This record gives sequence, structure tokens and C-alpha cells, in this order.
Amino acid sequence: MPVLVMKFGGTSVATLDRIRRAAKRVGVEVAKGYDVIVIVSAMSGETNKLVGYVGETSPLYDAREYDAVVSSGENVTAGLMALTLQEMDVPARSWQGWQVPVQTTSAHSAARIEDIPTDNINVKFAEGMRVAVVAGFQGVSPEGRITTLGRGGSDTTAVAFAAAFDAERCDIYTDVDGVYTTDPRIADKARKLDRIAFEEMLELASLGAKVLQTRSVELAMRYNVKLRVLSSFEEQSDAAGTLVCSEEEIMESNVVSGIAYSRDEAKMTLISVADRPGIAAAIFGPLSEAGVNVDMIVQNISEEGRTDMTFSCPTDQVLRAEKALAAAKERGDINYHDLVADTNVAKVSAVGIGMRSQSGVAAKMFKTLSDDGVNIKVIATSEIKISVLIDRKYMELAVQALHDAFELDKTA
Ligand code: ASP
Ligand code: MG
Repeated sequence: MPVLVMKFGGTSVATLDRIRRAAKRVGVEVAKGYDVIVIVSAMSGETNKLVGYVGETSPLYDAREYDAVVSSGENVTAGLMALTLQEMDVPARSWQGWQVPVQTTSAHSAARIEDIPTDNINVKFAEGMRVAVVAGFQGVSPEGRITTLGRGGSDTTAVAFAAAFDAERCDIYTDVDGVYTTDPRIADKARKLDRIAFEEMLELASLGAKVLQTRSVELAMRYNVKLRVLSSFEEQSDAAGTLVCSEEEIMESNVVSGIAYSRDEAKMTLISVADRPGIAAAIFGPLSEAGVNVDMIVQNISEEGRTDMTFSCPTDQVLRAEKALAAAKERGDINYHDLVADTNVAKVSAVGIGMRSQSGVAAKMFKTLSDDGVNIKVIATSEIKISVLIDRKYMELAVQALHDAFELDKTA
């Protein structure tokens, strides 16, 4: 029988009543003839609570025990979902990660899935089980310890199962009814997209549109898993939501498909560093070793052999960056006059695969911002994305203005 993967996020399993509603949707697909693999998150708020317990108990916790604790929220919902389905006379059972087994690396709290053998679950499907309810977010290391995949990891669990079982589709049920052209809380003209390409979704996901875990989109792209994002709160489940698919499945690609933003950016400037071969390596090597996620980088024009170097990173990594750079200066690896951190900035980006073939997008973006008096501090571009760093107080204005300028409220 064809296999369907259905993933329910925290808000979709937040109460017993919502679990029942989710189970009903599963029942509908079973009635259509699918064998279903249901991936569940913990009830909303549960994982945060567990993370809090760990931190309170042991500030410098053993990551293996962190995983033992925070993975447990999913065990509860998996069992409850299986029980609910059984109450509806749907043959179902729960699976914890190690029982499948979901084999991962031993990078606790950020493990990667290595393999998902399908035998154990397929034997049960062959015996008449119709639904395998799998606890998302968790796996087992080569050492036999419980691992977790990082926050939001059950999206990745879902896509990995869809790939392993060659599922017809992977439906991600969440509290929004799809992927939007931008955040509807910021721009009320935001429109739900019917389709979006993997590459665009990847940019939007990593730029702060928190619908899907970035890794799940990477995985879906690699294995060409048809991914659908839809709401578990709406009555109609068919044809709704947004399909995340390969470029070829989108007839006419948009020049710009969405405007993303990220509030938690900081702009760091090293004032007057020696402009010599190896200087960038001497700066960004220690930053990467310190685990600082550098995003945009700009090297200014140099004068008399010295230059300013600007980069952006998440605000909560500013201290780490400052420490790493101070240490490098101490060692004599780099030399700078000052390090200035501006934590009042935000990043706004326009994303679209159509940019590859259409020119003038950057110009239009800059003109729009300048018409609204928004000063651009840093610019970075890729093939399908243009990002700017601006003062945080202009972020919402910029998002709205760009959404209007690229006519994202109108269907293509
Ligand atoms: N419950 C986990 C978290 O909140 C995993 C997930 O829901 O995707 O991060
Ligand atoms: Mg999530």
C-alpha cells in the first residue's frame, strides 16, 4: 500500500482534544488506503519546560542526559496518539526513535540522522498495522544512547521517514495554513503561496520564517520529497496548504516569492585592521572555532594599508565573537583599533528563484527602501536572495514596503 507521512507539530497535539482531531485526519487517509506514518512533536510548551528543568538541575549539563530528558515529551504524544487511533478502531502502535531504530550520530542535542531501517515498521504494516506513530525529534546513537535532533527537529524526522519509506507525500500539520509571502503579523497583505520551490523555502526558513526546520527542507530537496505545509485547525485538509516542491513543478517562477526578516542580528565592525593577505582568515577562523555564525561580510575600502571589516551574526553570539577576537588580538594574530557592536539592526531579505533570470531586482529593492528613508548598512546577495541590514526600528516598514513594491499581494 502507498505510504503517507503526516507530521503534527506541538500546537496540533497540545490537548487531548486536538490529538483526537489530528487522529481523525489520520483516519481519513487510512480509509483512502494509505499506510500512514505519523510523526508527533511534544505537546506545545512541553519541550521548553523540559529544557528548563535540565538547566535548573545542572547548568553545565551532560548532553546525553539532556537528550534523555528533552526527548521524553514526544514519547507521551506518540503513545496518546496511538491510543486515540485504537479507540477509533484504527490499528496503530507507537514507536520511540530507538525502537525503529532512527540511527543518528552521537552529537547530542544536535544529532544528524544516518539511517532509518524500514524493516521493523514494514513487518508490522504487513501484519495489518495501518498507522505507525513515531516520536519525532529523537534517535539513538551508535553507543546506544538517546539523541535529539535540535529544536524543531521533528520536521526533519518526518522528511527522513518520507525519504526512507518512499512516501507519496509528507504532510506537515502546523498552526498556520501554509507558507506566506511574508509574516502576516507584520504585513496584513501577506498571501499564502500555493507552491514554493525547495531553494526558496530554504532561504525563507533560514532567514527567519519559522514554519519548517531548515534541515528538513535540505533533506526534502536532496531526496525530492513532496512536502506540504498545512493547518490542522482548518476543516478541509485536501488541496489546502503550500506545496514545497522542485522548481520544475512550478510553472512560472516568481521573481520575488517572499520577504523574510530576522530581528536578532548584530552588526560588528572591526575598526582599522591591517589589510594584508590572510587577514580575513585570521579574523573568521577564530570566530568559526568559537561557534559564531557569521552571515554577511563586508570589507571596506582600505586606506594606507588599513581597512574596516564588518560582519553580522546573531545578537546572542556577540559576546562570544568579542571574546574570540580579543583573544586573537592578544595572541598577535590580528590587530585592530576597536570593535564596535551594533545590536539594533535587523535583516530583511527578498527571495525568489526568478531573480536568476531577471535583472533589476536589487535596484528596485534599494529604491523602495530609499523612498521610505531607510538607510542600508550592509548588503549581501546570492543567486536567489538579496539581504540588507537596516536599523531595527525600520524593519516592519521595510517588510511592508518591499511586499508592496514586489506586488506580492497579487497572485502571479
Ligand atoms: N519538541 C521539539 C521542539 O520543540 C521538536 C519539535 O517539536 O520539532 O523543539
Ligand atoms: Mg516546529
